[in-house]
Parts: sequence; structure tokens; C-alpha cells
Amino acid sequence: MDFELSPQQAEFRDLIREFARRSIAPVAREWELSGRYPAEIVEEMKKMGLFGILVPEEHGGSAVDAVSYAIVFEEISKAWMGIAGILGSHSLATWMLARYGTTEQRRRWLPALATGQRRSGIALTEPGAGSDLQGIATVARRDGAGYVVNGTKTWITNARHADPLPVLVKTDPEAEPRHRGMSILMIEAGTPGFSVGRDLGKLGYKGTESAEVFLADCHVPAENLLGGEEGRGLQQALSALEFGRVNIAGRAVGVAQASLERALAYARQRHAFGRPI
Ligand SMILES: Cc1cc2nc3c(=O)[nH]c(=O)nc-3n(C[C@H](O)[C@H](O)[C@H](O)COP(=O)(O)OP(=O)(O)OC[C@H]3O[C@@H](n4cnc5c(N)ncnc54)[C@H](O)[C@@H]3O)c2cc1C
Repeated sequence: MDFELSPQQAEFRDLIREFARRSIAPVAREWELSGRYPAEIVEEMKKMGLFGILVPEEHGGSAVDAVSYAIVFEEISKAWMGIAGILGSHSLATWMLARYGTTEQRRRWLPALATGQRRSGIALTEPGAGSDLQGIATVARRDGAGYVVNGTKTWITNARHADPLPVLVKTDPEAEPRHRGMSILMIEAGTPGFSVGRDLGKLGYKGTESAEVFLADCHVPAENLLGGEEGRGLQQALSALEFGRVNIAGRAVGVAQASLERALAYARQRHAFGRPI
């Protein structure tokens, strides 16, 4: 197996590395500690097209390969992993839309998501269900031309900036097996009954918000059902999370690489017993 980067991938890595060195690293420590939202960095990522890395070219994205996708998260996380969080679930939402959305849904949302003019995330977790997603309690009941959604999501990355936000719901709470009754609804910001709660406190990984999302008699049009077919939601979400492991792994490599580089630099300049430690 060839682990070398292609010339295009190496050029892309250099571009992201330079961006992280120039615009992220100098502010990372201060903004992480203060919890300041990195709005300027987001604007630069929009100009670089980073919100469209998993959007097909026909919808205005660059649809990079999986290695280049990992490179984005590795290089950014070397400087500040919090910034990777801003791109991570957004990119997975675009991946889900591109893969499972109807033609109309792809045309409607992907172009603005590709530029970052609109942003997104993924709302799966609830106060009572995380690993066991089939145990979610958010219910979408059919009502005329749409659904009425009630429930609470928590720990939702990018919640305050997401529009639309893919939300995992139960369209048939009695279904057996349970996943057959699960679907994803694309809920737009400003929909009555949709609100974002407080930002949850974190020890680290700041920069991007993790927030609660409340759905109280939230009316969502039927055309916002991802893929137009009920009962596909868990599979759609889990396959996005599976591809998302590439970005999680990229972050881990980036943080480990940066830690090693800093430890080595320190060990070379720190002297003890008359020589570098
Ligand atoms: C910073 C941050 C950002 C997040 N962003 C998002 C987001 O954007 N969207 C979203 O939907 N969610 C998000 N989450 C939530 C995350 O996906 C959940 O925390 C995760 O799925 C685990 O769920 P839980 O916290 O409810 O833990 P639980 O499911 O309660 O698990 C607690 C512990 O028990 C273990 N465990 C669970 N079941 C078993 C078992 N059967 N046997 C043995 N051990 C078990 C788990 O491995 C874990 O260690 C985020 C979380 C964090 C911290």
C-alpha cells in the first residue's frame, strides 16, 4: 500500500498548514481559554471553500478525497482542535444530504452549505440517549402536510449556527425493530418551536459551541424528510458517523503530532545535568 501523498494532496496539505500556522495558531491558546467564538477564522474558512469539502462539484463544493479530508482535520487540529469541530459535523451534514437527499433537497441546501453562507451540524444525542440512539425520545407525528416534532437534543455542535440542522427523530415510536421507526428531518433555523438553549460548559475543545436544542410543537414540512422516505434515519446517521471517523482520526493524529513536536523542541532546549534532557 502506498502511503505517500500525491502531489495534489501535498500541495493541499501545505495550503491548510500555512492557513493554520498563520491564522489559527497565534490565537488558539487565548481564545480556547476565554471561550471566544473564532468568527474571523470561520470567515477565512468560507473564503477557502472549506465548508464545501464534501459537497459535490455540481453543487458548488470540491468533494475532496478521504485522504485530503483527513489532512484538513489533521493540520487544523495541530493548531487548535476546536476549529476542527466547526467543520466536522457541518461536513457530515453535507455528506448525508449529498448521499441521501432528494434531488430537490440537494439543490435547495447544498450550494449555500458549500460556501458556508449556511452552516450545519447533526442532532442525534438526547439527555436520555447517546450511545443507544435507538432509545431517543424525540417524536415527529404526521400532521397534514408535515410533522409536529417534540423533544430535546443535547451536546449539539454548531447548534447556534446550523440552518438547516438534521435532527434524528422517531416517526414511528412503536416500530420493531426500533430503527425502522427512525428518520431525519432537516429543520431550518427560525422554524417556530425550534430553539437553541444554553452552551454547555466544557473543560476544553472550546471554539465551537455544544448546546441544547429544544423542539416544542415544531412544525416541519414533509419535504424536509431526508431522502423523502421514513425509517431510514438511523442508517443515514450511522453511515455519516462512520465516514466521520476519518475526521476524528485526523484530529487525533494532528493533536498527537503537535504534542510530539512541542515535547521534542522542549527536550532539546531544556538542559539538566549539563546537557539537553
Ligand atoms: C464535545 C462534544 C460534542 C458533541 N457533539 C455532538 C453533536 O454534534 N451531535 C450529537 O448528536 N451528539 C454530540 N455529542 C454527544 C456524543 O455523541 C455522546 O456523548 C456520545 O454518543 C455518548 O453518549 P452519552 O454521552 O449519552 O454516553 P452514554 O451512552 O451514557 O455512555 C456513557 C459511557 O458508557 C459506555 N457504555 C454505553 N453503553 C455501554 C454498554 N452497553 N456496555 C458498556 N459500556 C457502555 C460508553 O462507551 C460511555 O463510555 C457531543 C459530545 C461532546 C462531549
